[in-house]
Amino acid sequence: MWENITENAERILDRVAQAERVCGLSKGSVTLIAASKQNGYEAVRSAFRGGIRNFGENRVQEMEEKLKANAYEGASLHFIGHLQKNKAKNVVGKAELIHSVDTPELLRLISKIAGNLGITQRVLLEVNIGGEQSKSGISPERVPELLDVAETLPYVRVEGLMAIPPAGDVKKTKYYFEKMYKIYVDIRAKKYDNSIMRILSMGMSADFEEAIMSGANTVRVGTAIFGTRTYNNG
Ligand SMILES: *Cc1c(COP(=O)(O)O)cnc(C)c1O
Repeated sequence: MWENITENAERILDRVAQAERVCGLSKGSVTLIAASKQNGYEAVRSAFRGGIRNFGENRVQEMEEKLKANAYEGASLHFIGHLQKNKAKNVVGKAELIHSVDTPELLRLISKIAGNLGITQRVLLEVNIGGEQSKSGISPERVPELLDVAETLPYVRVEGLMAIPPAGDVKKTKYYFEKMYKIYVDIRAKKYDNSIMRILSMGMSADFEEAIMSGANTVRVGTAIFGTRTYNNG
């Protein structure tokens, strides 16, 4: 089982490299994040052996357990799930990049905690691109409002946008990817203090190649590396 994860990781890295070539991008310009939720220490280390250098977690407690076990040693840690305010202190300074900021309050809190730690926390704004009630994220129209808030906060730096498009066929997903890319480019053309639009995080196991074709430079892949999620421990 662990060998499979290592091989899957190698294969997905190859597919990312192939998509880079097809798009005329230089090698390594797309970051592959292995979404390792519900996969334990051994699974994470197996993916590392396959070349994975970025891991994404969506549950704070699970992330803390794996951190304690040094599961991510030699790699970068990303927080990709919904972050509750009362858990922010457990993530700031631990995750290199928090992908899922979607309220001014959370942004302010992250800056406050980071300031106390003497660091600057890198974050992305999560955009609810499909306007789905059930999902977190801000509407595209509210992105400038959060960037205005970020201008007043010295200890956060907004580095881009993240999205999880509505579930659907590839054609529909591609429509949302392209919509996200357009928003990203429009915002990038404007200048905000404490923000540099350089990361567009979208695409998962079923559609990461389409996401890259549409302009994503960070993709988050779980199942295609770790297999179907039933807790893989070690
Ligand atoms: C789990 C997860 C992924 C990966 O999903 P797969 O379909 O398993 O590749 C990507 N992004 C987020 C935010 C996730 O929670």
